[in-house]
Amino acid sequence: MPDPKIHIKDSPIPESPLQPVQYTGEHEIQFRCHKNIECFNACCKQIDLQLTPYDIVRLKNRLGMTSEEFLRQYTFPYEIDKDGVPGVKMKPVEGTSQCQFMTEEGCSVYEDRPASCRYYPAGLLSLRRQDESVDRQSYVVVQEDHCKGHFENKVQTIDQYREEQGLVEYDEHSRGWRQLILKKISSGPVLGKPTAESLQFLFMACYNHDKFREFVNSASFRKTFDLDEAVMTELRTDDVALMHFGIDLLKQVLFGEKTIPLREGAVKERIDERWEIVQQRNRLKEEIGRQQKDTYELDMESRQNDDISDDVAGHPNGERCSGND
Ligand code: SF4
Ligand code: SF4
Repeated sequence: MPDPKIHIKDSPIPESPLQPVQYTGEHEIQFRCHKNIECFNACCKQIDLQLTPYDIVRLKNRLGMTSEEFLRQYTFPYEIDKDGVPGVKMKPVEGTSQCQFMTEEGCSVYEDRPASCRYYPAGLLSLRRQDESVDRQSYVVVQEDHCKGHFENKVQTIDQYREEQGLVEYDEHSRGWRQLILKKISSGPVLGKPTAESLQFLFMACYNHDKFREFVNSASFRKTFDLDEAVMTELRTDDVALMHFGIDLLKQVLFGEKTIPLREGAVKERIDERWEIVQQRNRLKEEIGRQQKDTYELDMESRQNDDISDDVAGHPNGERCSGND
């Protein structure tokens, strides 16, 4: 049987002396979590959970909320890297580190709990070497003092555990997003620092799906991209299809991959439109400049007139005479 440990040099934290041990799915873990365990709920009292786009779709639909409402109430944004690539984490109960979905009986959204909760005590590591175009998937296992599940008598491989926890589906739906974020982070200075607009667009397409749907339904989007009615109907009604579409669109926008067909002539039309906008702006600037010049000249003229009348009616030092003489 092959050694399930992965010995790769390119760790996600290469400068750290503490390298996480990375495993393949064949690695066996001894672990079981259940309602009668003495540490029940301990992990949900101290959360630090990153959410994937698919986590958000599952949770907001379970709660019957729009993505915007869900993001406001249950999450906070954070920056994944120094260029500000946006991510979203679960917001704990105010003033604590406890998950808002935790109850005495356990998780109130159990069937739709996020991927990180399903993985625990394992974690997924997606790594991409600079000389490779695809990412490698491996796993880490954490053993924290508060978690007594490691002393339970159940042994299975990480792959079996993933299957048991419904993670095959979750990983499938999150792969595109993971690859996109990884590519964005690892491309570094090659792509340059993203603009504030492109980071906002990334946030909307990845996490705020209802807002993104409005964008896809807009006239300017339809004018640019060539999508048939069947695809548009799917995007209007299916959150998961919309989520995957958003990732494909980002690959096109950020990396120039040809993922979504453009309408014939759309690029030229956009360039013409932009050119017209630039021309209008320039005309506006010129007009403002002209008006400012006119105002300045009028202002100067009136100052000169004031000076003349001051000379006539006031003291030479500029003070008006308030006396009787
Ligand atoms: S979502 Fe559920 S399982 Fe995950 S931390 Fe919250 S209560 Fe615990
Ligand atoms: S601390 Fe570990 S064993 Fe205890 S409830 Fe959480 S995951 Fe289960």
